[in-house]
Amino acid sequence: MKGTMQGVTLIADWDPKPGFKLGSKDIEGRQTYLGSQVWRHPRFEIREYDIPTPGPEQVVIEIKACGICGSDVHMSQAEKDGYIFYPGLTGFPSILGHEFSGVIVEAGKNARDKRTNKPFKGGEPVTSEEMLWCGQCKPCADGQPNHCEQLDEVGFNVNGAYTKYMVLPSRTVWSLEPLRQRYKGDDIFVAGSLVEPTSVAYNAAIERGGGIRPGDRVVVLGGGPVGIAACAILKRAGASKVIISETQPERAAMALKLGADYHVNPAREDFADRVLEITDGMGADMFMEATGLPEVVYPGIERVIWEGRTLLSTVVVTARAEAKMPVMGEVLQVRKARIVGAQGHSGHGNFPRVIDCMASGMDMTPMSTKKISLEELPENIIKLQTDRSECKVTYIAN
Ligand SMILES: [Zn+2]
Ligand SMILES: [Zn+2]
Repeated sequence: MKGTMQGVTLIADWDPKPGFKLGSKDIEGRQTYLGSQVWRHPRFEIREYDIPTPGPEQVVIEIKACGICGSDVHMSQAEKDGYIFYPGLTGFPSILGHEFSGVIVEAGKNARDKRTNKPFKGGEPVTSEEMLWCGQCKPCADGQPNHCEQLDEVGFNVNGAYTKYMVLPSRTVWSLEPLRQRYKGDDIFVAGSLVEPTSVAYNAAIERGGGIRPGDRVVVLGGGPVGIAACAILKRAGASKVIISETQPERAAMALKLGADYHVNPAREDFADRVLEITDGMGADMFMEATGLPEVVYPGIERVIWEGRTLLSTVVVTARAEAKMPVMGEVLQVRKARIVGAQGHSGHGNFPRVIDCMASGMDMTPMSTKKISLEELPENIIKLQTDRSECKVTYIAN
């Protein structure tokens, strides 16, 4: 295909803080693994790009939907000194957008469809992992793609989906064909754009957290999209009580709609007292930290583990935070509890299982509370810096 397209592009100035040293994977002036140490004065521009063409193992996707993620907000948000909030891998200028779905319009001759085990024909509805794991490094070769040592990230250091077409390696692309039965019209693409954040929750709760047994009690702290998705997955996995801890009323309501049974508002009531009350003094088998404020919420989790009568609780640290948690080893020892960290969404059958859960009735589309056009993306991303009332704002391509 020939022609041009518009892309919502984030630009920032390369201006490393004093003492910053280029890491082994950093590229002077272009890319760093420590965004908030380097990039200053972020701003959006809608730029013109050539429509990409695929290499032998690549596909070109016509974008249909893409959700705005908290990391988009944090990449474009500056501290008082002008440095961006987002601490991770970033390379600017870049088209943002990584929670997307679309249709295959062109495929290289070796690009394979994992659903059919045949080459892509064109016309398939798909989504993709955001993490472009290399498949060559030791963690990748050991089956740990979420810890790839040569990682590229769609919409962070390579161009993302806030545009019309994008090129991707076929290895990270997953068919949305199973959703056709249940989702009509654009809803298949809205659901497809929610596979990535839902897979982050799936990887955390099921893969890293070890899953639950039907009848277990679980507590999800933080009702952002990943926390809400965790409520849906854990309810589907058979939890008897899913408790959401969240201060913001719209987010709590969404969690209750998609899987949570009880809501605790830690701004108005004591978190530990309420969880112990709801569980009749038993506590919980799993706690998911999805607030990004572990130093604030961990003491409450610890008290539930200590005072509750459940042994073998698992705390899954899901949200990213540069903060120390105050952990008492004695509590972990006496209660046989453990804390695990979770990162990413790739591998371990996460994406295809989430798609099949969605195909069999785990409908996440209510999370998309606002639909916008490409031109409206910059203002909406900026609005999300201060307004958390929308759950997911979704760009719908036309
Ligand atoms: Zn994201
Ligand atoms: Zn790798």
